[in-house]
Amino acid sequence: MKTLHTVSGKDVNEMQSKPFSTHHQFLIVGGGSAGITVAAQLRKKLADNDIAIIEPSEVHYYQPMWTFNAAGVFEKEKSKRLMKDVIPKNVAWIKDSVTVFNPENNSVETADGKLISYDYLIVAPGIQIDWDKVEGLAEGLGTNGICSIYSYRNLDYVEECIKNTKTGTALFTQPNTKFKCGGAPQKIMYLASDTWKKRGDLGNINVHFTTAGSVIFGVKEVADALEPVVERYGVEPKYLHNLKAVKADEKIAVYDIYKDGKVVDEAEIKFEMLHVTPPQSSPDFIKNSPLADAEGWVDVHKHTLQHNTYPNIFSLGDAGSTPNAKTGAAVRKQSRVVTGNLISLVKSGSMNESLSYDGYGSCPLITGFGKLILAEFDYNNKITPSFPINQMKERRSMYHMKKDLLPIMYWEGMLKGRA
Ligand SMILES: Cc1cc2nc3c(=O)[nH]c(=O)nc-3n(C[C@H](O)[C@H](O)[C@H](O)COP(=O)(O)OP(=O)(O)OC[C@H]3O[C@@H](n4cnc5c(N)ncnc54)[C@H](O)[C@@H]3O)c2cc1C
Repeated sequence: MKTLHTVSGKDVNEMQSKPFSTHHQFLIVGGGSAGITVAAQLRKKLADNDIAIIEPSEVHYYQPMWTFNAAGVFEKEKSKRLMKDVIPKNVAWIKDSVTVFNPENNSVETADGKLISYDYLIVAPGIQIDWDKVEGLAEGLGTNGICSIYSYRNLDYVEECIKNTKTGTALFTQPNTKFKCGGAPQKIMYLASDTWKKRGDLGNINVHFTTAGSVIFGVKEVADALEPVVERYGVEPKYLHNLKAVKADEKIAVYDIYKDGKVVDEAEIKFEMLHVTPPQSSPDFIKNSPLADAEGWVDVHKHTLQHNTYPNIFSLGDAGSTPNAKTGAAVRKQSRVVTGNLISLVKSGSMNESLSYDGYGSCPLITGFGKLILAEFDYNNKITPSFPINQMKERRSMYHMKKDLLPIMYWEGMLKGRA
């Protein structure tokens, strides 16, 4: 067999049972927000270098729009573009899924049986939705008032549930795992409540926010700002409640009740509508790989985003181990650090010491139609506002920024390597 590449001074074909299909200087795993953003930035800065993305999906989603789609503000198709149209020009698209990482050999294996080697690997496959971790949920979703904005396919059903609920109990859950967009479980609750308020039905509906956590939001200033919102809609928070099963036919949600970190009881609540934020975790192929930390996330340094064991591997976005809020806004900041360091490594052989990710995440908390509290914070939960105004106040201007400006900034700025 012909030797194609030498990695770390070794003949790689001696180390591998399969032949290499290809080699790329920069290999990106995942063509989501993080993968496309990094590809676009690299393409802009390094016009002639070889960049490839491994991504199985034909479509790319702007997931932050899904809350609006489910609340009837935009058609869900507006959140979707063809993958071929968002992958930057002169970046190779390998339409396949990574299954195995061989970091010692600088290669990955794919579902189609390819073995692809790289100089630098950027790991960005997002987070995994674990529908089956709640008994009865996978089967029940999309029936009997059980819905979720965490699935593109279910967005129309969320809208239908909001429309059909006129009396009874509406439950909105938040899981005991890490999950993307810390505000999403509440945003859809406030938009649903505002719909019911405008329709005159809110007084007949008991809205419960059932969360495994012990506060409404993890950043104190934001939690304080949400107090009047919760009061306005008559939302009853039920803390330390973690959804564990759904009895779809009976319309009953079953919760574990926690005290001091232990399950002490169980509760059943009958519902008319159940909006579920499902448990989430690192994708299985990451968990089972040498790249994972003890919790299964890609084990990177929290400021440089470089892998803690393999210096030619970086990770950003929802799959990374950094302890920030998992948001597209975080991806925007992280991408600059990853790209800057990669360029520095290629050009000078060393990292760019001036680049450091501070844990920035943003939660545009939609609190009703025309109302938004813009929460931005860092690793220390310190508020880091982008605008010289009190962002803890509900504002129409911020609502329009989120609804009308951010999608343009995403498609035309971030995904084109400009933001
Ligand atoms: C309902 C909802 C509301 C949200 N609201 C906001 C918001 O208001 N503001 C905000 O900033 N963020 C928000 N987010 C979060 C934001 O969408 C994510 O944090 C962001 O998309 C993360 O980017 P990513 O590239 O890590 O993952 P993704 O964008 O999810 O992309 C991951 C990509 O990896 C691919 N992939 C998976 N497995 C493999 C594999 N084995 N091999 C190759 N490729 C693979 C997938 O097909 C996918 O294309 C929201 C998310 C949801 C669901």
